[in-house]
Amino acid sequence: MSLDDHEQWRFDTRAVRSGQTHTNEGEQSEPIFPTSSFVFASAAEAAARFSGESPGNIYSRFTNPTVRMFEQRLAALEDGEACVATASGMSAILAACMALLKAGDHMVASRSIFGTSVVLLKNYLGRFGVDTSFVPLADPKEWERAIRRNTRMLFLETPSNPLLELADISELSRIAHSHGCLLVVDNCLCTPALQQPLRFGADVVVHSATKYIDGQGRCLGGAVVGDRDRVGKEVFGFIRTAGPSMSPFNAWVFLKGLETLSLRMKAHSASAAILAQWLSQQPGIARVYYPGLASHPQHDLAVRQQSDFGGLISFELEGGKEAAWNLIDSLRVFSITANLGDAKSTITHPATTTHGRLTPEERAQSGVSDGLVRISVGLEDVEDLRQDLENGIR
Ligand SMILES: *Cc1c(COP(=O)(O)O)cnc(C)c1O
Repeated sequence: MSLDDHEQWRFDTRAVRSGQTHTNEGEQSEPIFPTSSFVFASAAEAAARFSGESPGNIYSRFTNPTVRMFEQRLAALEDGEACVATASGMSAILAACMALLKAGDHMVASRSIFGTSVVLLKNYLGRFGVDTSFVPLADPKEWERAIRRNTRMLFLETPSNPLLELADISELSRIAHSHGCLLVVDNCLCTPALQQPLRFGADVVVHSATKYIDGQGRCLGGAVVGDRDRVGKEVFGFIRTAGPSMSPFNAWVFLKGLETLSLRMKAHSASAAILAQWLSQQPGIARVYYPGLASHPQHDLAVRQQSDFGGLISFELEGGKEAAWNLIDSLRVFSITANLGDAKSTITHPATTTHGRLTPEERAQSGVSDGLVRISVGLEDVEDLRQDLENGIR
């Protein structure tokens, strides 16, 4: 495959073909290289590899052929110049921060990011002299107001989890760049099949590959995508030094996941749209959060920025926590687990799980009420999912 081929290919061809290299065995499917180090033909070659004079593998903490295939395929799908794979989504966020920030820098982050990301920024990066201000995701004025002289990075997820609010990526990239800041987007919920933040002006995309990229709830992994310098050199430099590299086996699972990503995202979105519509007509449900509903306050932005609306839906039961727990406990098809993006549908009660560590005031501020339930719509028959929910709501 030449680079020219790959640049002409459309998304679905890239998802299946980009990044694959072949050994002399004539394999059709991508091989796994479970090896920690690589051998050199001579002492001179070893020296040339280490000095960087000759390209090639040295040690799997730095590069590994299976991991490389995954990185190049995901870079092609996000339209990035470079991608670095990591051991988990959290280590992708850590790597982006460690590589692109230093003590004394300030960061502005959305209030509605993954809970563990908040802990990482507040409790750990804060200890090393990087301060973070948290702002409401959907209000660009608040982002601009929070920017200080030493602000270097804006960080967000869109749509947010669990309330599925959106940020206008183009607008925030304009604000970031006019203040000399980088815009980093966690694209885990949409994946490049539904949204390509770099095309809207984001500088760096981070992923938890654990979710939709795997798509069947098997492996932990993550990735950072962006340009040749920041990601290809700086983030790569951090990963090869600090060590949260992706395992070749996980990279292989994610490579195969990318081949079906676009089909799966269409199917998750189609079923979620049906369920969101149906849920919004049921008695006992106060509110349904889904960007594909015309009633969603940012539906127009979702149409502009995303090619579909994804597999997550949240809804609020009028009966509060008791009604939410009763519903969850009565379901037969949905699994009670906090993971998302799986072929298997899952259901969570955010107030007592993912958001359980927040104070009641913080929860109220983030809009996570006691009656709120979040579902990740899987690939089962949508009619079975609907009946399961119907029985539960009764
Ligand atoms: C799960 C998740 C992460 C963390 O990813 P891990 O692979 O669990 O480390 C980060 N961001 C978002 C949006 C997530 O859903």
